[in-house]
Amino acid sequence: MDIANLREQMVETQLIPRGIRNKRVLDAMRRVPRHIFAGGSNLRSSYDDMALPIGEGQTISQPYMVAIMTELLELKGTERVLEIGTGSGYQGAVLAELAKEVYTIERIVVLADRAAAEYRSLSYDNIHVRTGDGTLGWPEAAPFDRIIITAAAPEIPGPLLDQLGMDGILVIPVGSRFSQTLLRIRKTEKGLIEEHHTPCVFVPLIGEHGWKKDL
Ligand code: SAH
Repeated sequence: MDIANLREQMVETQLIPRGIRNKRVLDAMRRVPRHIFAGGSNLRSSYDDMALPIGEGQTISQPYMVAIMTELLELKGTERVLEIGTGSGYQGAVLAELAKEVYTIERIVVLADRAAAEYRSLSYDNIHVRTGDGTLGWPEAAPFDRIIITAAAPEIPGPLLDQLGMDGILVIPVGSRFSQTLLRIRKTEKGLIEEHHTPCVFVPLIGEHGWKKDL
């Protein structure tokens, strides 16, 4: 089975039946080579319905989780997006297909370096990668139209809310260390509007405005 076919299967069996409807999101996930970001030891399993280990105790998120988080961001193509938790780089590539510029922060140097190298080899020239504590955001590039946090947080980091522009959307898994709820926050003139979406399990967000240290 060829790779485009594996991606089509992923879209038709994992994303559409669970309610992902945004055609731009589905098409982006038909295009981005997940197996490259997944490390490529087993081509077929890269497209399985699960998160996969990427080294350093971290994971590439399940395709469905990437899809729903991306759909919740309502990207039209003009946005500047901040991602916290580059990890494999896969989610960042999906965002880069759908937004204008992507800024992504990863605390583990080897993962940030590997993702940056994949972006170069795949010619993504609208993704900016930085190593550091993403709970502090990227003040020099703020405000952002969209912010996505792909690690589990005890609460929404204050600096990220500050760096979200007016009418912006922020998506984040919030909860305990081992189980969270995916939240969508909209910043409006009247204040923040919070919606609760699906239950989820992410690796912890570790930093000044996240969990304090590794277990
Ligand atoms: N978006 C990723 C999923 C990454 S898993 C993908 O598509 O593959 C979450 C990542 O968040 C891990 O790589 C972890 O090291 C990173 N992380 C945890 N706390 C962080 C912080 N404070 N700042 C930046 N990255 C962080």
